[in-house]
Amino acid sequence: MFDVKRKLNFVGKLVIFILVIIGGSIGFILHKNHSLQEKHILKETKNYSYKISYPIYHKKKIDKPIQTMIDTKKQEFLEQVNSALKDNATISYDFLVEYNKMEWKNISITHFIVQAYTGGSHYTREDISYYYDTKAKKLISPLDLLTQEGLNSLSQLAYYQVMEQSSKNAWNLEDADVKENTAPKLELYQHMTLSDQGLHILFPPYQVAPWAVGPITVTIPFEQLEDILKSKYLGETKTKVEAPKISQEKRDLTPYQGKKLIAFTFDDGPGYQTTKKLLDGLKERDARVTFFMLGSRVDAYPDIVKQAYLEGHQIGSHTYHHKNLFHLTDFEIHQEIESTNQAIETIIGVAPTLLRAPYGNTNDQIKKISNMYSILWDVDTLDWSSKNKDAISDHIVSHAHDGAVLLLHDIYNASIEGALQAMDQLKDEYAFVTVDEMLTLKGLTLDKTKSYRSFP
Ligand code: ZN
Repeated sequence: MFDVKRKLNFVGKLVIFILVIIGGSIGFILHKNHSLQEKHILKETKNYSYKISYPIYHKKKIDKPIQTMIDTKKQEFLEQVNSALKDNATISYDFLVEYNKMEWKNISITHFIVQAYTGGSHYTREDISYYYDTKAKKLISPLDLLTQEGLNSLSQLAYYQVMEQSSKNAWNLEDADVKENTAPKLELYQHMTLSDQGLHILFPPYQVAPWAVGPITVTIPFEQLEDILKSKYLGETKTKVEAPKISQEKRDLTPYQGKKLIAFTFDDGPGYQTTKKLLDGLKERDARVTFFMLGSRVDAYPDIVKQAYLEGHQIGSHTYHHKNLFHLTDFEIHQEIESTNQAIETIIGVAPTLLRAPYGNTNDQIKKISNMYSILWDVDTLDWSSKNKDAISDHIVSHAHDGAVLLLHDIYNASIEGALQAMDQLKDEYAFVTVDEMLTLKGLTLDKTKSYRSFP
């Protein structure tokens, strides 16, 4: 009896044991599947600690390099701990591995931040990113997201954005340093992610700014990425809501075909009284002109800009502050141009396509930065010097020729009167057109790498 009881007892225990194992295994399997998505390793001793987190994708091509990286970094840390312990009785080092994971189209991006404190003035930080193509089932380079020329253009945009953040936050970064550290080199563009906002580039601490500034992230919206990102990675571009929906009155150009054409251009405005007076005079004469406006004045007189545009004139840019662009850094040139384009676009709904650099001072680099058409002039009326309407009018009449581009300034009364007077004398022979109308009538297209003085 005793034996039987013991046997039963034994069988009972065995059953319970088996049940526990099965139960445990189910629990273990469930737990294992769950926990394998992310792995955490924690250790704390009296001299050091580490905390490591990393994802597991169940894909050898990405899991293996991540595992190798983690092992290597941890090993390096432990070696530093060991050598420090040989010299010192007490240390308190720590090691931390964190990560962010995101998906975009068929790319899975894992970004690690590996931090170690081993007795210096601050911890060290290393950023490591992995780009996994879930379709091709392999790791790719961030360069694979970009078009052939993409990195060059991206580098330019990143430089502007870092400089912009620097001036906004008073970091006082050196222009030359930022330029060098945002240069189109693959090693400087290792940490990029994508979202509905566009492309985010992370520059870890020390790459472009001192440690105290921390990491810098710049975001480039998709509308600026069309020639930079491969089209399959582009997201939706957001339509600007603030742009007013106004449309310019386009005129029928057939009456001017075969006529000699002159493009009157007016710089440095808009003025208030003077430009208003000019607009009225042009309306009476069925004349259209091109304004090269200063962003600072556009902001001051938005109604004049709007009126000029609605009455069919062309609005070009003369930069924001009328500085000599030859004396500015690339970023400052970009700002002079971009702020003016934005000021104009806010008012008329479209950004200008024509740029006249102050003093006509332009070069290949300025043309590249602006990405606009460079329009100079071939007839300088010297209106700013004479401020005499008859002298201005006479100069125009005596220099008039087909395809001429005349330089005037709509901030002087004499310029307005002289220009209108000249039009009255020339009107039988000539039509007065905007630059765009001139191009249409002459069947010309422009090249952004060139500058144009006239359209003979
Ligand atoms: Zn000017």
